[in-house]
Amino acid sequence: MSQLPSRFPRKTAVVLAVVGVVGVTAVRRASCQNQAFAESPKPCERGPWGPGGRGGPGGPGGPGRMGAFTTLRLESSEQVNHNTKRLRFRLPDPAANTGLTLTSAIITFHKPKDAWLPVIRPYTPINNINEPGYIELLVKKYPNGKASTYLHSLQPGDTLNIRGPMRRYPWRPNEFEHVNLIAGGAGITPMYQLIQGILNNPEDRSKIKLIFGVNSDADLVLKNELDAFERKFPDRFKVVYTVSDPGEGSPFPKGKITKELLERELVGAKDSKGTKVFLCGPPGMEASVAGTKGRFFGQAGILEEMGYSKEQIQKF
Ligand SMILES: Cc1cc2nc3c(=O)[nH]c(=O)nc-3n(C[C@H](O)[C@H](O)[C@H](O)COP(=O)(O)OP(=O)(O)OC[C@H]3O[C@@H](n4cnc5c(N)ncnc54)[C@H](O)[C@@H]3O)c2cc1C
Repeated sequence: MSQLPSRFPRKTAVVLAVVGVVGVTAVRRASCQNQAFAESPKPCERGPWGPGGRGGPGGPGGPGRMGAFTTLRLESSEQVNHNTKRLRFRLPDPAANTGLTLTSAIITFHKPKDAWLPVIRPYTPINNINEPGYIELLVKKYPNGKASTYLHSLQPGDTLNIRGPMRRYPWRPNEFEHVNLIAGGAGITPMYQLIQGILNNPEDRSKIKLIFGVNSDADLVLKNELDAFERKFPDRFKVVYTVSDPGEGSPFPKGKITKELLERELVGAKDSKGTKVFLCGPPGMEASVAGTKGRFFGQAGILEEMGYSKEQIQKF
């Protein structure tokens, strides 16, 4: 050891030390990343989403920032209606918090046979995000839909590769007095996550009005849950259903989400910072309600015509 200083001058020793530390860190990170999709958390993993968990609580993940990869196992798959399934997945650690915040989504990955590229799609968990150990997705199957068909094909015990959470709108309790939610079809999922989170938080006093438009009576997914919330929180939550093609004897009003309907149902002063409108639905519905962007072809939507400012309108 006494020979060391002469063989390794101090400068060289410092450089070697720095290279060593950087190298060890890189190998450690790489080994964590190689464990992406590991079934159970490894020591280097911090959160339910795997190594790093950048998007998890305490991490730097702002809106749109992602956490890490993980693999979930399907616990149950329930057919909800003609084209929608409710899929319940277990987190690798049953005691782990989901790490989801209001409002966030996860990204699913799968690589179809013979395909070069993986199919990557976002989905919005609909379970109570404060309950540990699992997430639930409500997935509408589209004809020839790559991800939705794959998700519908999964059987209990199968696994799904995901990345998450991907944060959407950073909800702050009581930021708005009146919260209007306009949902079309499968666009109900982010609204439902938000409704649950607001109503289950005793500190949050925001009042919510949901306008939920669908094609047929059978498309009114989560109706039992929404009605239960309305009964439990009659002063804070109201829901209006509208069905464009209702069945014979349907109890629901017929129609699409029109200006007339929104004029009648939206709550809160239009010119107030205390009023917010969230929107999620098929592209045509979002364009009609919130308008389209573009210098030459951009068009104002119903909300703008009604007097809502761009800052008041948030698309999921
Ligand atoms: C933030 C976010 C959260 C989402 N959360 C959910 C969720 O919780 N549940 C859910 O079911 N979906 C959700 N989606 C939609 C989802 O990500 C996929 O886009 C959807 O499942 C279709 O993917 P696919 O691969 O099956 O279809 P693709 O292979 O991409 O498309 C197949 C065909 O289906 C049609 N199609 C695809 N998407 C739509 C659509 N939205 N409306 C009308 N026609 C369509 C297309 O015209 C196409 O011809 C979310 C989307 C976003 C951006």
